[in-house]
Amino acid sequence: MKTHYDVAIIGGGVTGMMTAHKLLQKGVGNVAVFEEKWMGSGQSNRNSGGIRAQFGSPETVRLMAASLKEWRKLTVELDYNILFHQAGYLFLVLNDENVSDYDSQRIVQNRNGINTRWLDNDEVAGLVPGIRRDIIAGGNYHALDGTAHHDAVLNALRFSVARQGGELHEHAPVTSLSFDGDGRGTIKTPLGSATADFVVCAAAAKSPGIAAMAGIDLPVTPYRRELLVTEPLRHFLGPMIVSLKFGLTAHQTLRGEVVGNTRVEEPESFDTKGSLSFLVQFAKDVTHLLPFMKYVKVVRHWAGTYDMTPDGSPVICPAPRIPNFIIAAGSSGHGFMMAPEVGKLVAEYITTGTVPEIMRPFSIDRFEQGELLKESSVTGKKLD
Ligand SMILES: Cc1cc2nc3c(=O)[nH]c(=O)nc-3n(C[C@H](O)[C@H](O)[C@H](O)COP(=O)(O)OP(=O)(O)OC[C@H]3O[C@@H](n4cnc5c(N)ncnc54)[C@H](O)[C@@H]3O)c2cc1C
Repeated sequence: MKTHYDVAIIGGGVTGMMTAHKLLQKGVGNVAVFEEKWMGSGQSNRNSGGIRAQFGSPETVRLMAASLKEWRKLTVELDYNILFHQAGYLFLVLNDENVSDYDSQRIVQNRNGINTRWLDNDEVAGLVPGIRRDIIAGGNYHALDGTAHHDAVLNALRFSVARQGGELHEHAPVTSLSFDGDGRGTIKTPLGSATADFVVCAAAAKSPGIAAMAGIDLPVTPYRRELLVTEPLRHFLGPMIVSLKFGLTAHQTLRGEVVGNTRVEEPESFDTKGSLSFLVQFAKDVTHLLPFMKYVKVVRHWAGTYDMTPDGSPVICPAPRIPNFIIAAGSSGHGFMMAPEVGKLVAEYITTGTVPEIMRPFSIDRFEQGELLKESSVTGKKLD
């Protein structure tokens, strides 16, 4: 560990490592990532790898559309097969849901360059054989959404950061953070202390504790989200399917397993044990949509911790009164898909001193000013 860095990044998940990668690409050479456990040990190695631009607020659609563009370049940029696969996302609309909500989302997406189409009941059944046609009105479909493999992405980032001369420190929790009058940061870890011109907080659900060390109140709370994998099946599912009604997502991997989750309402916690109530709820929700799934065996099941904000939208901004302290947290269940753009935006801010246009709406100030973004397309925790 050195005694000074241009940029010290707290948190070695996809957000922290992507930010390091993007900074190194821009020629900022003296960059280090400090991780409490091991790289990717947080949510970043527990997710479904879903990547979509279909969201409800124009601000988030613009962020995710930009990120989707970055994903399309990432395999070449990282020189690694990250198993990026554009099979689309299909938001199922049930007969008892309000179709106009989905029309509104589609209009926002179309206005922001995302070519989401309405599929009728026949078209949905064509894309999802086995779906219960009697309960489906149709769906919103965007063919360029997709998935990437989280482990491949994390490996690729490790290699890329190391290859470009960045430092990755594992078992190095940041235990203290302060800023002097010139805005220069000092971090302390069990490996030693260092100063840094810029400090980035990418510690997900643990970010409020880091922000508090700098006197910042960050409204991010932990929420358990579980995921399961079934035995491999013959390929039947092209796109990722989503039901906002149930908070359910499911897609089929290249090996044929179905990877899925669904919403279970529970209090905030850092609990990462799998629960029986999740398995029961997923079985209920998925067989309601796809009755044949009752014959399918679950082979693995785990949980991770979402870092939720009150409006389901991330915080990506310099901290109030500390421009050299950047917060990139509160991804509310969508941090994997947004990471390439978040890393790029943070690197752009650090190298230019200007907050990029796409990043502006995600300022922490919105909570104090009561101007929440209210994302309507969140599958995890129900927002108030
Ligand atoms: C079941 C599940 C399914 C999901 N599916 C999707 C999906 O399909 N698509 C999508 O986009 N997102 C999905 N997500 C969310 C996604 O995984 C996260 O938003 C994303 O991984 C966040 O990355 P991160 O780097 O910000 O956080 P993390 O990966 O959690 O990394 C934060 C890191 O900070 C470290 N840390 C904490 N405190 C300190 C400290 N004091 N010092 C140093 N390090 C510290 C932690 O150990 C951790 O490794 C899912 C999440 C779960 C749980």
